[in-house]
Amino acid sequence: RCGMIAIVGRPNVGKSTLMNALVGQKISITSRKAQTTRHRITGINTIDDAQYVFVDTPGFQTHHSGALNRSLNRAVTSTLSSVDAILFVIEAGRFGPDDQKVLDLIPPSVPTILIANKLDRVNDKHTLYPFMQQMSALREFKEIVPLSAKHPDDIKRLLATLKPYL
Ligand code: GDP
Ligand code: MG
Repeated sequence: RCGMIAIVGRPNVGKSTLMNALVGQKISITSRKAQTTRHRITGINTIDDAQYVFVDTPGFQTHHSGALNRSLNRAVTSTLSSVDAILFVIEAGRFGPDDQKVLDLIPPSVPTILIANKLDRVNDKHTLYPFMQQMSALREFKEIVPLSAKHPDDIKRLLATLKPYL
């Protein structure tokens, strides 16, 4: 199995932290040669028979305006249409207008997994279930995964969850 997975979300939700954790230092790609025109391959992780190729979406911005915004958004949508799965990252317990703007750029046809990151910061765990129910009403997410990108066990579990999408 081999598949491409894009990680998207507004700034500061923990995309880079998650990407590094999913790829692991030893195999993350830093060479520009690994980049293609449609997307940047930021890392590959091979576990047993599964190869996860993580891609970046250059120019994924929500604060531009006008023609530039529309052009960038078309490029992003084009990249996102070509991947096998999308990880849409938010902060657990928080969903705001900037998150919505990113969600609006995700093609509904691509399997999308909602990652509610920074779970370690949620003090009252009882608030999590209603939050996740609220999130499930936004879009038909394939999975809703609350986790902490800084917890290796959560990362292992996420890789297993992603395997069927490769
Ligand atoms: P990006 O802008 O989406 O790429 O976010 P970064 O990966 O740069 O992370 C933004 C900040 O959130 C950094 O200070 C990270 O250390 C922090 N962060 C990321 N993941 C977690 C997490 O699971 N728990 C906590 N407490 N902080 C996190
Ligand atoms: Mg980042």
